[in-house]
Amino acid sequence: MSRRTIYILILIAIVALSGIIITQIYWVRRAYNLQEKEFNDRVVIAMSAVVDRIQQANHDSAIVEPVSQPRSSYFVANINDTLHPYFLETLLREEFQSLNLKEDFEYAVYDCFSDSVVYGARINFAEDERQPAQSMNMQKRFKNDGHYFGIYFPNKTGMVIHQMDFWVFSSLAIVIVVLFFGYAIAIILRQKRLSEVKTDFINNMTHELKTPISTISVSCDMLMRDDVGADQQRRRQYAEIIRNENERLKAQVERVLSVASLSPDKLKVNQEVLNMHDIIQRATTAQRIHLDEREGELNLELNATLHTVRGDKVHLTNVVYNLIDNAIKYAETKPFIYVKTYNEDGRFCFAVSDNGIGIETKHQRMIFDKFFRVPTGNVHNVKGFGLGLYYVQTVMKAHGGSVEVKSDPGKGSTFTCKLLNNE
Ligand code: ADP
Repeated sequence: MSRRTIYILILIAIVALSGIIITQIYWVRRAYNLQEKEFNDRVVIAMSAVVDRIQQANHDSAIVEPVSQPRSSYFVANINDTLHPYFLETLLREEFQSLNLKEDFEYAVYDCFSDSVVYGARINFAEDERQPAQSMNMQKRFKNDGHYFGIYFPNKTGMVIHQMDFWVFSSLAIVIVVLFFGYAIAIILRQKRLSEVKTDFINNMTHELKTPISTISVSCDMLMRDDVGADQQRRRQYAEIIRNENERLKAQVERVLSVASLSPDKLKVNQEVLNMHDIIQRATTAQRIHLDEREGELNLELNATLHTVRGDKVHLTNVVYNLIDNAIKYAETKPFIYVKTYNEDGRFCFAVSDNGIGIETKHQRMIFDKFFRVPTGNVHNVKGFGLGLYYVQTVMKAHGGSVEVKSDPGKGSTFTCKLLNNE
């Protein structure tokens, strides 16, 4: 499946899922509003009934629309009569229970003139079925008009949501579908990338192995010719070519196989005390010949005052060597390389900067993956198997260190490695 087809399919699926999510949000909101309205209506009916019964008990006339709702969780009822808290609580319990309202609430009696609470309590249906506050002074009463009472539901939203189990369940199912979809997309893209990396690797491998194989084949043809076979010197010459090319092939295959099977936990690292400045100098000297071939320049700025670490000499030398090797390989003009060391938070850091082709941001995350090479189509002017940086990262991890890249396409890259200081 081409990348374009995958993206189109993903886009269609995203649009469809967004439609489902929007519809679900719309219906959940509607269901919530309906549920809330039903609850509000029942509270208003219960409170109105309480007001009516208080008025009746006092032989007073009924009040029209005595209940108002200033806030979503707060209801107020006006009373023009003597209010006894014990009686009020009993009535509230009775009326709320008769309408199957089992939600805990707080109620308070207010003085109209000062707007202050003169009495307040909390009713918890679940906790006790006891009668209203036994400690309450039965004689307590708020005489005549000038009082009103309010009811507050501290957990109204939670209670309304609690009654929407079907919607909660269906929303959860949709969240699971979305998560599953995201996971499936991640897997598809990962598989796609792996298959691209695999194709690239096969192309590279073919390219790298073809030359020695065809050289060996030509040499064999020559050896089989009677005139060449009879000439001892030429025979020896061709046999040597075959041996050298064979060695080269063997070395390449071994390198690929040994690095490809590496992992930070399998890599055995010695724990010698190493002077990293010496190691950097050794690696740069080894690269000097390649640098001279390209008429390049390499500057060292060894600023770290603490430059000993515990680690493996061979592997760490290879790390520096690989980074400088890449800096030379991926330069389009004369390579200009800068190796800098410094100390930071108890760590020894070294950075290799170059003026090469740079790496696009979207590839930077993957260059440390096994076999990954920045795609260049079918052009292979720079040789490699995409294992150098994988090796660097594996070695750094095995030493408890890290490697990171900063790169500006067209301008150059900087690879920074950090290791714990030994001091
Ligand atoms: P190889 O060089 O053998 O392909 P590496 O693992 O060393 O493998 O590098 C992976 C890829 O990262 C390279 O193919 C190249 O595209 C990119 N890369 C690495 N180092 C540099 C650099 N200094 N400048 C630009 N690109 C780089």
